[in-house]
Amino acid sequence: MIPDWSAERREMIDRQLRGRGIRDERVLRAMSGVPREEFVPLELRILAYSDGPVGIGCGQTISQPYMTALMAQELELDGSETVLEVGAGCGYAAAVLGALAARVVTVEIVPALAELARSNLRRTGRDGNVLVVRGDGSMGYSPGAPYNAISVAAAAPDVPISLLEQVRDPGRVVIPVGTREDQALRVIRKRGGRIDYRTGVQCRFVPLRGGEGWH
Ligand code: SAH
Repeated sequence: MIPDWSAERREMIDRQLRGRGIRDERVLRAMSGVPREEFVPLELRILAYSDGPVGIGCGQTISQPYMTALMAQELELDGSETVLEVGAGCGYAAAVLGALAARVVTVEIVPALAELARSNLRRTGRDGNVLVVRGDGSMGYSPGAPYNAISVAAAAPDVPISLLEQVRDPGRVVIPVGTREDQALRVIRKRGGRIDYRTGVQCRFVPLRGGEGWH
């Protein structure tokens, strides 16, 4: 039997997102519009709307829907922004951010995953305003800078300075910061030349690799 994906998607929105306090209607609408099953490997598609991360190959994961929603909500996008994502993975979060902002640049360090993200975005018709760049994004991506918002989908020991330099004023950065096993989502705001931050929910992401990540 073929699962009823739109029913599963509605249930995800109600239980996992609204039920846990995601209130930004634009985020909820964006996640209602992106077919998450298309971003999960065929053999794991049955888990596409499960309440946790799912393997996508190369030891990496598609993030839990709630984390994708929360990070997008924290960026407070209105549709006019240029957004940098570090860690495209399968391209799902990039598709969601693409529905919320004017333009998205997403960097992926694993070549096979950069290719996977590209093909998933193309197949779902989400590649119009999303550029996938293959490379180390731990120091951002200067050719596209400055960005109105930056979302980092892998955990770092600390906030890379380059990301703070590449975000506009005013602008926002969300990034999981902590140890390899345990992190908290950090929400950073640049405004009037000042940078302040807030520590949000506990989380567990795959490690950020490369120059400003874990070696
Ligand atoms: N955005 C994804 C989640 C991807 S998981 C989603 O839609 O759910 C995090 C990804 O970050 C992995 O694919 C990993 O390969 C990638 N990554 C880790 N370090 C990186 C780096 N320095 N630059 C770019 N990508 C990186």
